[in-house]
Amino acid sequence: MQTISLIGNPNCGKTTLFNALTGTTAYVGNWPGVTVEKKEGFWNGYKVLDLPGIYSLSPYSPEEKLSRRYILDERPDLIIDVIDATNLERSLYLTTQLSELGRPVLIVLNMQDLLEKEGITIDEKRLSQMTGCPVVSISASKGIGLDQFKTEVENALEENKGPSCPLFSNFVEKYINNIIEDDYLHAIPEGRQPRWAAIKLLEEDELFLATMPPFPKEFACNLAKAHESLREHYDDDVEAIIIDQRYKVAEHIARASQVKITQKKAFNFDSIATNRFAALPLFVAIMGGVFYLSIGLVGGITTGWLESFFEMLGTNLTILLDSLGVFPLLSGVLTGGIIAGVGAVLTFVPQLFVLFLLLSILEDCGYMARIAFILDRMMRSIGLSGKSIIPLVIGTGCTVPAIMSTRTIEHKKQRELTILVTPFIPCGAKMPIFALMITYFFPGQWYIAPMIYLTGILAVVLTGFIMRAFDRHKEKTVFILELPRYQLPAIKNVWLQTRERTLDFVKKAGTIILLSSVIIYLLSSFSFSLQPVSPEQSMLAMMGRLIAPIFKPLGFGFWQASVALLTGIAAKESIVSTLSVTMGEAGITALFNPASALSFMTFILLSSPCIAAIGAMAKELGSKRKLLFAIVWQTGIAYLAALLVRALVLLIV
Ligand code: GDP
Ligand code: MG
Repeated sequence: MQTISLIGNPNCGKTTLFNALTGTTAYVGNWPGVTVEKKEGFWNGYKVLDLPGIYSLSPYSPEEKLSRRYILDERPDLIIDVIDATNLERSLYLTTQLSELGRPVLIVLNMQDLLEKEGITIDEKRLSQMTGCPVVSISASKGIGLDQFKTEVENALEENKGPSCPLFSNFVEKYINNIIEDDYLHAIPEGRQPRWAAIKLLEEDELFLATMPPFPKEFACNLAKAHESLREHYDDDVEAIIIDQRYKVAEHIARASQVKITQKKAFNFDSIATNRFAALPLFVAIMGGVFYLSIGLVGGITTGWLESFFEMLGTNLTILLDSLGVFPLLSGVLTGGIIAGVGAVLTFVPQLFVLFLLLSILEDCGYMARIAFILDRMMRSIGLSGKSIIPLVIGTGCTVPAIMSTRTIEHKKQRELTILVTPFIPCGAKMPIFALMITYFFPGQWYIAPMIYLTGILAVVLTGFIMRAFDRHKEKTVFILELPRYQLPAIKNVWLQTRERTLDFVKKAGTIILLSSVIIYLLSSFSFSLQPVSPEQSMLAMMGRLIAPIFKPLGFGFWQASVALLTGIAAKESIVSTLSVTMGEAGITALFNPASALSFMTFILLSSPCIAAIGAMAKELGSKRKLLFAIVWQTGIAYLAALLVRALVLLIV
């Protein structure tokens, strides 16, 4: 099967095109670094690959390495170089490198819909002549030009013609040719182009050198001479010279093939959104608004309504099953287990839907990336990177993709620290617990929800400070997350994302929550000798009582809470369903009080995430020791914070 792969700078629309082509719904986000693993799809009998965005084939971050390794080793039959047409010159920098790989390249000028507004016209024919690649203009998100694009893909595959390599200045070319002609180049791995290899040798690209045998004496000597004379001529190191040469080529092609009329900018929202003083209050206000609308307004209306609905359903079903003479255990599992457990979780669907919807809108219109920009300085002062905000924001949905998205962070320490702190941001699955406790103990006090996030952020900051204090080799980094453009959120993206997050939630309710509700119900109905007993004497209670004393100082040292926390390891939604199954509304209001409710929420907020997220952490940290440290750290902070919160409430009230 022939393979085509989508390659381009971050945020140029690769995933949007991939989705349009393959009909899948991979995650599209209006900021760089959203696709961190390659994704496969199929179209018209071809395998299509969506790769992480890259600026260059001299990789720095792990996902750049992934893209490069893939292109070099898998040798796709066609490289589709997706270009954000409003950013032609910068994109061509990557094109100059793709051209050297000896694979056919199709240049796709995406975001055609924005060109006119930005006063840019691009001469496709000229661009095609200068690069030796076919060129096609499309708008992936608006679905413009896709038919033409598909035809071009077929043509390019049929022709199977490589592009022309960009030429550098004569002075540099001389040395490239010298190396190409050297016998040593016979040693290059199969499938690599001599010119590409020669440039990599000049650049002393470590990844490439590792694939080559050691230099023969003469070659080493020649290479050293070439280095010296290049360094002398340009007064710069060779890697920088090559970068510069590429930029010159890119600039040359861009100049020749595009006309740009600069326009005066009208009102610029960024002057407020990234203003030093206004930015943070604005951010807090916007997030406050998001929570007010979702948890406060929509949650306030729907929770009570849905609760009585499931209650009614349960009661009526019990009556019905009793009248039919159904075996009481079965009717118990159905009503006390499934309806109580799954219902308790489903109650939160409407408010979560609104929450996910609003977050997706903020993300897609480009605002979230501004926040990363604003917070960068602060983030760096606690050992994180501005880019750490991406996982932190994705983490409000689900911690698993959030932890994977840390791969865009170049520096290992910043990345590991980000992985350590991302679970402090409550995921969507933790929200129902907070919403439940707020409903029972703090009705009408919607502002508790943003305060929970604030506590999470506090834990992030605190961890950062402490880790930094113990870090003797502080790394200095520069921020290179660029600001994506503001746009009206694409309804399709927002809808797909919201739907996916919400469906995820509902699906879990139908599978893992359903199962755990049934198990919890059964465990809470029988003793170890399998006699039907009251919940207090059940085996579940026995097990819960074993660990309950640990939580006594936190105010929830009763077995139901411990059991709920245990089931929460499988999925955080289970905490709500377990509480409902084991104690019901009456039990919750009787056993918890405002102080212990808050400390319970705090503990859940900060303690280690569910098993799936722990798995993601293990994978990304790549070390058992670090994973263990992370879990102990998170649980430790959670315990201390919960203790503190309870003490504070008891002190004040
Ligand atoms: P990737 O990082 O290259 O995979 O880019 P994405 O597919 O995630 O898209 C980045 C952003 O660009 C998203 O907000 C898309 O909605 C937007 N986008 C993609 N294609 C177009 C287009 O043709 N026109 C406009 N205006 N926006 C687009
Ligand atoms: Mg992508």
